[in-house]
Amino acid sequence: MQNKKVDVPSGKDALRWGVSLLEPLGNDSQTAWLEANLLLGKAWNKSRIKLLTTLDDYLETASWESYKNYIMCRVAQEPLQYLIGEQIFMSLCFKVNPDVLIPRGETELLVNEALKLGLDIKQPKVLDLCTGSGAIAVSLAYYLPDSEVFAVDISAKALEIARINAQANGVDNKIEFFCGDMFLALETKQFDIITCNPPYISATEYVELPVDVKKEPRLALYGGKDGLQFYRILGAGARDFLTEQGILLMEIGYKQGEEVKRIMEENGFGNIQIIRDWNGHDRIVTCTA
Ligand code: GLN
Repeated sequence: MQNKKVDVPSGKDALRWGVSLLEPLGNDSQTAWLEANLLLGKAWNKSRIKLLTTLDDYLETASWESYKNYIMCRVAQEPLQYLIGEQIFMSLCFKVNPDVLIPRGETELLVNEALKLGLDIKQPKVLDLCTGSGAIAVSLAYYLPDSEVFAVDISAKALEIARINAQANGVDNKIEFFCGDMFLALETKQFDIITCNPPYISATEYVELPVDVKKEPRLALYGGKDGLQFYRILGAGARDFLTEQGILLMEIGYKQGEEVKRIMEENGFGNIQIIRDWNGHDRIVTCTA
């Protein structure tokens, strides 16, 4: 009888095969190797270290099938994070799946701004709207030890992930989750800090998004025809939910700074500041009630 191992490759050969398919997609070879490593580790159920030290071993049939499937999904531009099921954000590990937006580095800027403020407030009450995976809410609960956090999302499926993330990071006792449409999900309550990374892609931008970004939920990306729909809701509603010294922090699209500033001015917010990201793009707007 033929040795079963003839049908399955060694870890090394599996990596080489994966890289040969990932490299032509425009990845540099380092990225292709990294991605193939991560997908092989996931399929073979091995940590990075374990994987590196057992690359001469042969895969089992099930791991090989699963790895082939991951590579083919990646070739079809499924985001890597959905395949490996996680993303690091603020040095914490977040579970992600196609029900939630993949947390972005830019959003860490928003969290850092909120932390600077929150650390000076005694027992800060925080509201995170459009919480998605819970990236912002969980990070704030984690790094603001005596905070109380409320997190809202219209998607029950996203909230399931956010709850898992709160639990995995040990802050589930500090966060209350609400399913609903922005402020309508809550009874009036005063918050020291409101954060929101709303969907802010306009209709024209949406059609031009790269294929992999379009695999993220439309609900988490599309911000109405001009992309500003949620800033209008925040402008109209947030002051009723802020304490006198309360602060609203929003992530914005890089071309939206002036328009979001105008919306906030029209709604009576003060001290409006636009913070740039490391590419020099307008990225965060903060303002006071
Ligand atoms: N709050 C989540 C994040 O920042 C999700 C945002 C969204 O879905 N628009 O990643």
